Amino acid sequence: MILNTSASLVALRESPFLKFKITPSQNMSSFPITPNNRITRLPKRGEYDRDAIYAILDEALVCTLAFVRDGQPVQIPTGFCRLGDKLYVHGSVGSGYMRAMAEGMNVCVSVTHIDGLVLARSAFHHSMNYRSAVVFGTTARVTDEQEWYQVLEAFTEKVQPGRWVDVRQPDAGEWKATMVLSITIDDASAKVRTGPPKDDEEDYSLDTWAGVVPLKVQRLTPIPDELLKAGVTLPDYLK
Ligand SMILES: Cc1cc2nc3c(=O)[nH]c(=O)nc-3n(C[C@H](O)[C@H](O)[C@H](O)COP(=O)(O)OP(=O)(O)OC[C@H]3O[C@@H](n4cnc5c(N)ncnc54)[C@H](O)[C@@H]3O)c2cc1C
Repeated sequence: MILNTSASLVALRESPFLKFKITPSQNMSSFPITPNNRITRLPKRGEYDRDAIYAILDEALVCTLAFVRDGQPVQIPTGFCRLGDKLYVHGSVGSGYMRAMAEGMNVCVSVTHIDGLVLARSAFHHSMNYRSAVVFGTTARVTDEQEWYQVLEAFTEKVQPGRWVDVRQPDAGEWKATMVLSITIDDASAKVRTGPPKDDEEDYSLDTWAGVVPLKVQRLTPIPDELLKAGVTLPDYLK
């Protein structure tokens, strides 16, 4: 058993920004450190604990999906969700990159949450507080109808918990038009920075203000669609 006591994991668990609780998985597993996911710079900020990485992934609505197309590196920002040990993306069956990935492709997925701007006394030590994750895996097209529906439900519930049972379910035409791809999570890493600026000793006597400007993504009051049917009120899950 690997004990998860790294400094970054402790910082992550105590982060006021973490929206999903990190609860240890049954196997408490960590991703092995490989040439792919080994962090070179400031490795103490690195994290390989599976649950910590999944918490960072699950909180992100959007990922960057990176791959090489005809020798050219490409990145696509896209929505995603995770079910078990796979990530899922979906898109039109007409999408160029989706069609290429349906054949199976090596990809790299990353997400970043920026929790604060770290304003140091020197320009050099300015930084950001963040939680980021990088995943390496392989794509495959989801052809099983039940898995396809599970993914669509997970997508919808990730955007807005409570939404799936409230909306019209996908029909046969939408099933045909929508491609779902799975991505195995083979190697993964996370990196986490928390806390105040770290200045050079001699700079602490400067008169310059230093500290952290916290940032967060926040849900604001919902704006009803102008075409909303008369009498339809805000559902409880949005209040
Ligand atoms: C919001 C934000 C702002 C940043 N700004 C800067 C900046 O201005 N300058 C700068 O040098 N660095 C910045 N970083 C850190 C940057 O992401 C790299 O971690 C850093 O450049 C060191 O890379 P490395 O040499 O360790 O990476 P490499 O050794 O090349 O990476 C090897 C492996 O380590 C893992 N890894 C590396 N970085 C991350 C990460 N951030 N999250 C998860 N896994 C990772 C990946 O699996 C990667 O394949 C920033 C990070 C974030 C999230």
